[in-house]
Amino acid sequence: MPTLLVTGGCGFIGSNFVRHLLATDPSCKVINFDALTYAGNLANLRDVANHTNYKFIKGDITNRDEVRAALQLGVTDVIHFAAESHVDRSIQDSGPFIKTNVLGTQILLDAAREFKVQKYVQVSTDEVYGSLGPTGLFTEQTPLDPSSPYSASKTASDVLVKAYQHTFGMNAVITRCSNNYGPYQFPEKLIPLFVTNLMNDQPVPVYGDGMQIRDWIHVLDHCRGVEAAWRNGKAGEVYNFGGRCERANIEITKLLLKLLGKTESLIRYVADRPGHDRRYAIDCTKAERELGWKPLVSFDQGLQETIDWYKANGDWIAGIKNKDYLKYYETQYGKL
Ligand code: NAD
Repeated sequence: MPTLLVTGGCGFIGSNFVRHLLATDPSCKVINFDALTYAGNLANLRDVANHTNYKFIKGDITNRDEVRAALQLGVTDVIHFAAESHVDRSIQDSGPFIKTNVLGTQILLDAAREFKVQKYVQVSTDEVYGSLGPTGLFTEQTPLDPSSPYSASKTASDVLVKAYQHTFGMNAVITRCSNNYGPYQFPEKLIPLFVTNLMNDQPVPVYGDGMQIRDWIHVLDHCRGVEAAWRNGKAGEVYNFGGRCERANIEITKLLLKLLGKTESLIRYVADRPGHDRRYAIDCTKAERELGWKPLVSFDQGLQETIDWYKANGDWIAGIKNKDYLKYYETQYGKL
């Protein structure tokens, strides 16, 4: 019976991954190892908290003893989601990003080696490739060229994984995915931030001219990709995942206004993010060809379902939009 150590399982993508795996594979045990930072939320997995194949451990990947203790529970595989994940916060203070994303990954890799883990999956991002011009797509061969402290820290962790695979023969794979959206996403990222603000008739902050392009993918399509990379990915390989759904931020903003029945008077253009990458777009043909994966959720349907989920989960939003959140929000956007 595989026993997966899922790091960061109380975050957005990790919690969707844990729920997906428990629902689809009764032969898997999942140990969720999460430090419960501001982004980690036990409520994200309340519905599976008592599942027989599920166990939660509060632990920090930068703490070697805690990581070693977790791996000694019969872990066969590691799926590494835990990270500091928000670009704006990395611009405010890059320290926690280097600590968790770089040092934490190194500690996890050492422990995975020590306890002879069978497969290690590093969940990474298309942001490690930097920014594209108006044409072209990121492939797995695109040179790494990160431009924010967040993407630099993810790049550092990716190359550590590659080095451990090469030097120690670890069975490790790296996944690189584009922008996710879906339920349980912390409302600092564009879609949940805008949906939850608009639900309360609050303005939405659009960076610069709003023409930054992202490739959107539903979180469940990403989770299925990580699962496919875990089951069928080959040691040392990188797999890109994307939704073939390029949209400018301002397009998303106007679509959300329409779907929530609000007017454009709620748009506030704010100073652009320093060093803001202009365009990301993913070539995911390798994952389709070699892993038999493809994105299944259409953006229109996925976005409507996501909006419906936030509308139905006011308690979840209220639990997050607390004093710390409002303090961060004001530091980032000032009074809108
Ligand atoms: P998130 O911020 O929602 O969740 C991160 C989780 O990691 C939280 O539960 C947090 O408590 C936990 N964590 C943070 N530091 C920790 C530590 N030191 N020890 C243990 N746990 C810790 O992030 P997310 O959006 O779910 O992203 C998950 C992963 O996917 C990240 O590695 C991110 O780089 C990657 N990724 C995200 C996206 C996206 O669009 N959100 C796209 C591609 C890749």
